[in-house]
Amino acid sequence: MGMRSAGAATIKRASEIERMRAAGQILADILDVLKAEIRPGVTTGDLDRIADRMMADAGAVSSFRGYGSHPPFPGVICASVNDEVVHGIPSPRRRLADGDLVSIDIGCIVDGWHADCARTWIVGDVPREVRELVDTTRRGMEAGIAVAVAGNRLGDIGHAIETVAHERGYGIVRPFVGHGIGRAMHEEPQVPNYGRPGTGLLIETGMCFAIEPMYNLGGDDVYVDDDGWTVRTADGALSAHFENTIAVTEDGPVVLTEHQ
Ligand code: MG
Repeated sequence: MGMRSAGAATIKRASEIERMRAAGQILADILDVLKAEIRPGVTTGDLDRIADRMMADAGAVSSFRGYGSHPPFPGVICASVNDEVVHGIPSPRRRLADGDLVSIDIGCIVDGWHADCARTWIVGDVPREVRELVDTTRRGMEAGIAVAVAGNRLGDIGHAIETVAHERGYGIVRPFVGHGIGRAMHEEPQVPNYGRPGTGLLIETGMCFAIEPMYNLGGDDVYVDDDGWTVRTADGALSAHFENTIAVTEDGPVVLTEHQ
């Protein structure tokens, strides 16, 4: 999930980052199971139910359910299909079909510390250009993470992500951004998926970020659906979303939401 945030950028201690890693490893476990469940006929409500049960079994609390007020988000996951970019509401009526693209975003809290991540998966068979969109969006996330290094600036992250998208001529979603993360899901600073190198906040050891590019197979523009949550591409083009929570350490960026 990526939205506007308020407050100051915080520096985490190693022990705090370990709690975020614990939350992140639970998310990685859940995503492994959800990925295996992706097939034509499964509903996004089915996926939400699995995630809910696994999170509870792991002793974690959802970062998403009850979030916000327009209306409060009802799911443990966001499930965004095809032209839906982010924040899709999971539903037992939303059945995945061959050729769909589904982005699953998930966040949880362990001992008061959050982790947040997202993956886009293909359902059945898709044209090569759709597969490339997915692969490139993951690569964009990885390019952003690679420069989340102490001494760099936030604009370096955005620039790296934007550069990968532009190589392919993809649209980049601008109103929704990555973010600081820690005791709150959305902390300062915002981490846009575009930027100028060498500009913006100085990155320091102990900062934690959710880095989350959203690339469109069409233009940049998006709008929020009547349900108050679902973000869609204005031109109806497909969209992909990847997100990892990372910690900036003396040894470089460390991903907390993947199995090592
Ligand atoms: Mg997020």
